[in-house]
Amino acid sequence: MAQAYSALGSTVTLLEAAERLLTREEPFAGEQLHEALVERGVDVRVGVEARAVRRDGASVTVDLSDGERVEATKSWWRLGVVPGPTIWASKPSASSRESRLPSMTRCVCRGLPWLYAIGDVNERWLLTHIAKYQAHVACEVIDGGQARATRDGGGAPRVVFTDPQVAAVGLTLQAAKDQRLNARAYDVLSSATAGAGFYGRDTPGTSRLVVDEDRGVIVGATFTGTDVADWLHAATIALVGEIPVERLWEAVPAFPTRSEIWLNLLEKRETELAREHDEAPVLIEQVRRATLALTQAAAAISEDRMLVPDRLATSLRHLLVIYVIAGRLDGGPATRSRHGDQR
Ligand SMILES: Cc1cc2nc3c(=O)[nH]c(=O)nc-3n(C[C@H](O)[C@H](O)[C@H](O)COP(=O)(O)OP(=O)(O)OC[C@H]3O[C@@H](n4cnc5c(N)ncnc54)[C@H](O)[C@@H]3O)c2cc1C
Repeated sequence: MAQAYSALGSTVTLLEAAERLLTREEPFAGEQLHEALVERGVDVRVGVEARAVRRDGASVTVDLSDGERVEATKSWWRLGVVPGPTIWASKPSASSRESRLPSMTRCVCRGLPWLYAIGDVNERWLLTHIAKYQAHVACEVIDGGQARATRDGGGAPRVVFTDPQVAAVGLTLQAAKDQRLNARAYDVLSSATAGAGFYGRDTPGTSRLVVDEDRGVIVGATFTGTDVADWLHAATIALVGEIPVERLWEAVPAFPTRSEIWLNLLEKRETELAREHDEAPVLIEQVRRATLALTQAAAAISEDRMLVPDRLATSLRHLLVIYVIAGRLDGGPATRSRHGDQR
């Protein structure tokens, strides 16, 4: 809405309590949106909370946690949605927030097997398509079917309709790492295809795939840029179908469409993995340097104790580089080539 109002000519101040915009998405998504808003003239303030709001005649004043004060003619709040208490009034054990929630997969309320909760009311993921998905599951379950809602968690497909648009499905890189996946991210410019020329050369935006390299499948995708929302479904199919990334080479995108972004992403992954193959000589050199540094540290112990921490720090630095490179060269799926052969 900040972007819409500023586009219509209003002077807009956007307050965000978190340290960045779109905290659930990849950091670059929030950063690019932040930049776009500032470019449009929006006063974006992150890491700041509203402490008090009052209306005085035609103006609204908001006191902020950093001691600043914002004055405006209108204020618009988006603070989240919580179901009203009346809907749960008949529930016996409604004391804790957790106990109010329906079971995760069948849309049935805990302790109330005759009551189904679909959509925003179950607080799973507040989106129209998720409500529709859960409605489908609930109908199947009521009909005696075995359907389960498993795709309505935090990784559900989502689009922020700003300019640049932010479209994402699955996990961010950080979320994947938090789940202890052997996850790697591959980024390309969203405008780096011939088809993108129809939308303006060098328009800002990033496309990222997050790949679980142990399984060789996509676990997350994020696209930012102009009109990227419809790119999302291809990523959703690849993710839900757990299609091996190597297999995606067979899904040839037509030239000159913006779908060639998939080609760019696959090439980026292949290039990065291939580059690591060439890191073996670097590894040998690092081993040589670390050995030298350790020898010097040992010599320093007998000569000049002041030099010991310095020399040890140098050798540790070399050892760290060796550890990182050796981890990448460890013959895991991360080193698999397009044709499936292992180093
Ligand atoms: C500004 C805004 C923009 C959004 N944009 C998007 C978007 O772009 N894409 C997207 O996927 N989602 C978007 N959403 C979220 C989306 O609107 C909701 O996730 C979706 O509407 C949820 O559907 P629902 O049927 O669960 O709830 P609702 O659509 O809220 O329907 C619930 C209905 O129940 C009625 N009701 C409430 N209490 C009672 C009662 N006691 N008795 C009888 N009736 C009652 C309400 O009046 C309402 O009509 C947006 C939401 C907002 C607020």
